[in-house]
This record gives sequence, structure tokens and C-alpha cells, in this order.
Amino acid sequence: MPDLDGAYVKMAMVAAFTVVACSFIQKVFRKDLERDQYYYLRDISLIAAWAICGIWTQSAPMKLTITAGVIAGLVGFCQKVVKNWDLRFCYLVIGFGVALLGPRITFIGRPEGEFLYISSFTTIIILSTLWMGFFPILFQEFDEIPGMGGGLLLVSWTLMAGVTALSSKGLSDALVMSLCGLALILVFWSRHVNVYRRLGAPLAAMWGTLLAGTSMLGASKGVAFATVMVLPLGLFAIPIIETSLCVLSAAFSPKPLGNMIFYRKLVSTGIDHPVAVFAVSAICGVCGASIAVLQMGLMDLFSLSLTLALTGAGFYIALARSGGRDEGFVGRPSLWGVSADNVSLDYALGRVAGWVSSGSDSSRMIVTVDALAALRSRDDVDYARIVRAADMVLPDGAGLIWALRFLGFTVQEQISGVDFADHICRASAGHGWAVYFLGGRPGVAEAASEKIRAKYPGLSVAGCGDGYFKREEDENVCSEIRESGADVLFVALGVPTQERWLMENLPRLDGVVGIGVGGSFDVISGRLKRAPASWRALKLEWLYRAIQEPSRWRRVVRLPLFVFLVLMKKMHLDIWKPSL
Ligand code: UDP
Repeated sequence: MPDLDGAYVKMAMVAAFTVVACSFIQKVFRKDLERDQYYYLRDISLIAAWAICGIWTQSAPMKLTITAGVIAGLVGFCQKVVKNWDLRFCYLVIGFGVALLGPRITFIGRPEGEFLYISSFTTIIILSTLWMGFFPILFQEFDEIPGMGGGLLLVSWTLMAGVTALSSKGLSDALVMSLCGLALILVFWSRHVNVYRRLGAPLAAMWGTLLAGTSMLGASKGVAFATVMVLPLGLFAIPIIETSLCVLSAAFSPKPLGNMIFYRKLVSTGIDHPVAVFAVSAICGVCGASIAVLQMGLMDLFSLSLTLALTGAGFYIALARSGGRDEGFVGRPSLWGVSADNVSLDYALGRVAGWVSSGSDSSRMIVTVDALAALRSRDDVDYARIVRAADMVLPDGAGLIWALRFLGFTVQEQISGVDFADHICRASAGHGWAVYFLGGRPGVAEAASEKIRAKYPGLSVAGCGDGYFKREEDENVCSEIRESGADVLFVALGVPTQERWLMENLPRLDGVVGIGVGGSFDVISGRLKRAPASWRALKLEWLYRAIQEPSRWRRVVRLPLFVFLVLMKKMHLDIWKPSL
């Protein structure tokens, strides 16, 4: 690890301050500004954040690189305003300025670990100018494809930070720059890591210049910096080759080739846009990482990354062959033995309202399925049969939604048992339906019903019962529910007990809508806490629950198996067959 002295600690504090300030600005102004104004504000605050870092840093080469980045960002704004002027030559001028005053390319690292030193001053200046001038243009080129700029930025700063942190050659400037870059990407996450969003000319130019400058930082100090020097070449191998091809074909051919040929090829094979952006970023990342480990003389690691790259390529080809969509299951989102309904929460509530108000004698069954339920449906034929027989199947759990979308299905939204129960109670309070709570430990159903009645005062609770009764008692439980006059019955016995219970006992209840809600009573009653919104946004609700209930870890450890089997399915390598 390079030494991080006091100046860097100070720099880190300034970066942390700008990060907090930027997050605050975004939060405060979000509500009051028009969308375009808000985006402008974010671009300007990102450039300002870099400017503050530049003002505070003690390192002259860093100051220069950041200044060049900020100026490039401003040139980008001018490009936006005066569209009919080609201002791209300005980046070469900026590059020339940097080459004269600060970091320069003085040598090129060779795979054997030797360095090819460049002796001619003119060559050094020309090479450095081209390097600095090319990157903003390169970034603007591949920013034509939404999501590509952000994806490559994330990959490149991560690799740069990794390589500089591992290096023992005193690359602190580059490390600090990379960490600042990563921190700011994190703060402006939705601006960068969204496959449908472009960076825009100003940000593409700024980030390109910063990346090019950072890659040269160590060289200016005369330390061996081959790793980071050559890294971007590997990292951007595909876009560089493609952009060069594009420039060449524009010069020599009447019908020039478009940029990002590789990306377009992927899309033309039927792969959808997000997967294609991911594939290009991943391939660039693997190229960069391979070159980095080769430069460090880590042959074993090189073989490892080569193997990874080949495996990745195999995976990718299989993905391409699958055409991005699973033909067998187009229509209702399905995974192994379970199919979910692609409905919105409002629509699902509307269907329940229709069933209850119809006054029909036949009962209805609603179940929710998540990743573990899908996994269960592979072996548990009986469970799969029950889910198939349900009147409505709601997709629950971030894992299942990811898998279904990854397999090419459209899923409108996640409808979790606890949210659905809450909305049904609200509707019940409004319509005057009676609700029965069955399940959970003794006292939990009562506590849940009290809490929800306090939330929706008009709610009529027909009855409550705990979930620890014997099968012989089913008949008694059913007659209690029948006599209570319940319209809606929440059953919280856990998967698959609640589905089996509903299947067997619903026919004995007259015209009830039975809903399997898993551990919802524990959450509603306050016995367990629901994951905060931030955990849910990060798709970590399962982790939050597992922390509260350590017994759930037995189930959580099955999630990697789930992901693996979904990947297998995507590649048509899953040998599971539905049993008839
Ligand atoms: N439960 C129950 N009777 C049983 C087993 C479990 O009432 O025989 C309850 C348990 O107290 C808990 C819920 O069922 O409140 C199961 O919740 P879990 O989070 O395991 O549901 P899942 O994740 O399976 O939907």
C-alpha cells in the first residue's frame, strides 16, 4: 500500500465534505426543480465537487489534472450550447496545456515488466497531448449509447483504485483520484449507473480528461507507473479500436461505419440494450484487469483472469444464442414450477374487491411466491400444483423479480405479502369487509389486528387465531372462521404450510378470499421490524430479516444456488423438467 500522508487525509476529508454537500443539494432541490433544471444542477454540482477537491489538494499534478477536467467539462457545456461548432479541438488544446505543465507520458510499460523510455521531448509532448485530448472525445463517442459511459467509468475507476492500492510504487495521487472518482460516482449513482441514461457532453468530457490525467499522474513523478499507464489501453481496448475504426472509415469510405460496432452487433443478435451495455463494460473490465496483472508480473493471476475472460465469453455466447428471451415461457412470468401474475398492486386489489363484492359461495386463493418458493417448486410437485391452482399469484422478493426480468419476462412490480395485507386492510376498512387473522405465535395475530385497526380505524376484525394447532383441529378452526362471517382470511403459517392449508380448507369456507401472507403478522404486530426503505432499495430485505431471525440463515444459504440455477436456465443448461 502506498503511504497516505497528512495531505491525503486532508484531501479525503475535503472529498467526504463535498460528497455530503452534494447529497444534501440533490435532496433539497429535487422537489422544487423541473427535471432538466435538476439535471443541470446535478452536473454543475458534480463539476463543482471536483473543483473543490482540486482547490484543496496539495499535489500540483492533481491540481492540474482536476483543472483540466473542470475546463473540459465547461467546454462540454459550450458544445451543448453551440451545437453547430465543432469544439472538440479544445480538448487537444487542454491536453497540450497539461503535457507542457504537468503529467506526461515518458515511458511505456511492456508485458515483461520492462519500460520503453521515450527520449525525445517533442514525442513526449505529442503523445501526452493526444492521450489527454483523445479521452474526452472517446468518452463522448461511447456516451452516444445510453449507459455505456457510466458503466465504463465505474469499471475503470474501480480497476485504477485496485491497481494503485496494490502497487508498492508510491502512486498515492492516482489512488486518491480514483477513490474520489468512485465516491462521486456513488453520490451521483443514478446519474451514472443507469443503462438508459447518458452522461451528456460536459460530464463525458470531464470524466474522460480526469481518467486520462490520472493514468499519467505517477509518470510525472518519475516513479515506475507502467501499470496505470497501460491500464486504460487495455480497459478501453474495444472502444478505442472501434472509435479509431470509425474515424478511419469516415476518412476513407463513403459509407462510414458507426461507432460501437460491437455493441450494435450484440443488439442486432436480439440481445437487449442493458445486457449489451453490461457485456461491453465487462469485456473492457476483463481486458484492463488482464493487462494490469500482466504488468505487475503476476503470471498466475494473468492465467486466472484469462480463464475468467474465456468463461465469461462462453457465458456471453450462450446468452447471445438464447436471444435474451426464453421462448418457452413468454407470457405469464414463470420460473420452474411457479408462474406469477404480471399485475400491479392496484389491479390485484381491484380483483379482490370484485371477488368479495360478488358474494359468490366459492372461495378464492391468493399466494405470494419468492425466490425460495420458486426453488422449492423444482422438487416439491405438490407445492407447484397448489400454486398453479391459486386464483392469483403475486411476485414477491427482489430475487424472484430479478430472475424473472433477467429471463426476459415483464414484471410490473413486486407485491410483498406484508404490503398486500396492509392494502387489503385499508380497502376492507373502506368497504366494510370483515378480516380474519390466522397464524403466527400465540398472541401475535391479535397484536397485528390491534395495530392495523389503530391504523385503519373502521376495520372490522372478524377473529384471530394462532398458527400452532393440530391437523385434527382444522375442522374447528374452519367452523370458527365460517361463523365469524369473515370476507378475507389472512393465513400466516409460512411456506408451504399455509398454501397446503388454504388448498385443503378453503372449500369448507363459504366465499372467503384466503391469502397466504408468510411472516407478515410478525412485522405488522411489531414483533419483528420491517427492513428500512434503504435496505429494501438495495434489495437486502432478506438480509435484514435473517439478522433478526438467525434461524432464517438456513434458507438464505440457498440463495446462491438459486442465482446459479437461474444462470443455468438462461443458458439453457438447466436440466429441470416439469413433472406432469
Ligand atoms: N407459523 C405458524 N404455524 C406453524 C409454523 C409457523 O403460525 O406451524 C408462523 C410463524 O410464527 C411465522 C410464520 O408462520 O409467523 C412464518 O413466517 P415465515 O417468515 O417463515 O414465512 P415465509 O418466509 O415462509 O413466508
